[in-house]
Amino acid sequence: MSVVPPLSELQIAMLAEMGVSPWWTFGPDPAAPVPETVAPAVAVVPKPVAVPTPPPVRTPALERRVVQPLPVAEAPPPVGTAAARPVVAWAGADLDTLGQAVAQCTACDLAQFRRQAVVGMGDLQPDWLVVGEAPGEEEDRQGLPFVGRAGQLLDKMLLAMGLDRGRGVYIANVIKCRPPHNRNPDPVEVAQCTPYLLRQIELLQPKIVLAMGRFAAQTVLGQGGCLPPETLMHMPLGKLRGRVYQARLGQKTLPVVVTYHPAYLLRSPAEKAKAWADLCLAMDARDRVG
Ligand code: URA
Repeated sequence: MSVVPPLSELQIAMLAEMGVSPWWTFGPDPAAPVPETVAPAVAVVPKPVAVPTPPPVRTPALERRVVQPLPVAEAPPPVGTAAARPVVAWAGADLDTLGQAVAQCTACDLAQFRRQAVVGMGDLQPDWLVVGEAPGEEEDRQGLPFVGRAGQLLDKMLLAMGLDRGRGVYIANVIKCRPPHNRNPDPVEVAQCTPYLLRQIELLQPKIVLAMGRFAAQTVLGQGGCLPPETLMHMPLGKLRGRVYQARLGQKTLPVVVTYHPAYLLRSPAEKAKAWADLCLAMDARDRVG
């Protein structure tokens, strides 16, 4: 089925800012009906992925629970680092408690380098949860997610979808502290930080998750039981995107759509059309949830 969202002038302007022409509006004959084949290839509703049921996670209120490291490790953790520390789950913690815990977190070595941790921001009853990778320099300075150049593009993408941060959208990252020099987070850091994101999902109860970039995709899809860790480790983002997954997260089954990270789109603007196709797919999936 094709997805051709009706767009306001503002949304069309925002798409133009993203570098994406809304082909159904600017086609050779705007009055003519758009044939099915003109729609982006990924606008076909994908086959849902079988979702294995993860083990139940139930702990008493505010109990800090030691859990197993998460299945995203690419290499054995280096000796003498945060690997030795237990990973903590935050079942029972409310958003304030969680925010304080993140702000004071020293579970991994990133704590030494940050100015401040970045918990997340947005609507506390969101339809959409956008998950990015980790704060960059500007985010570390302001304590808010996606406020640098990548964030400006994210805002345009949201606007093109008729959304904005703070209204129906919550934005969080897998990693809450800036990795030095914006390096990739390591598996130990991902393992230590993922429980914060999982508790955010439980508390915020979004209707859909948009995972931006490889680390967000690996974490959300891995935790949601969508694909085996081995597969996730080796699948490039281009192969992960373009479908709607059903992930078991926050004790619910949620649709998840994976797309390119805005920072990657800034470097590779030719991929913006694919990202827009992913966003159309996500809007369609969101509408199906009701
Ligand atoms: N990139 C991310 O993944 N998150 C941010 O908050 C900023 C840049």
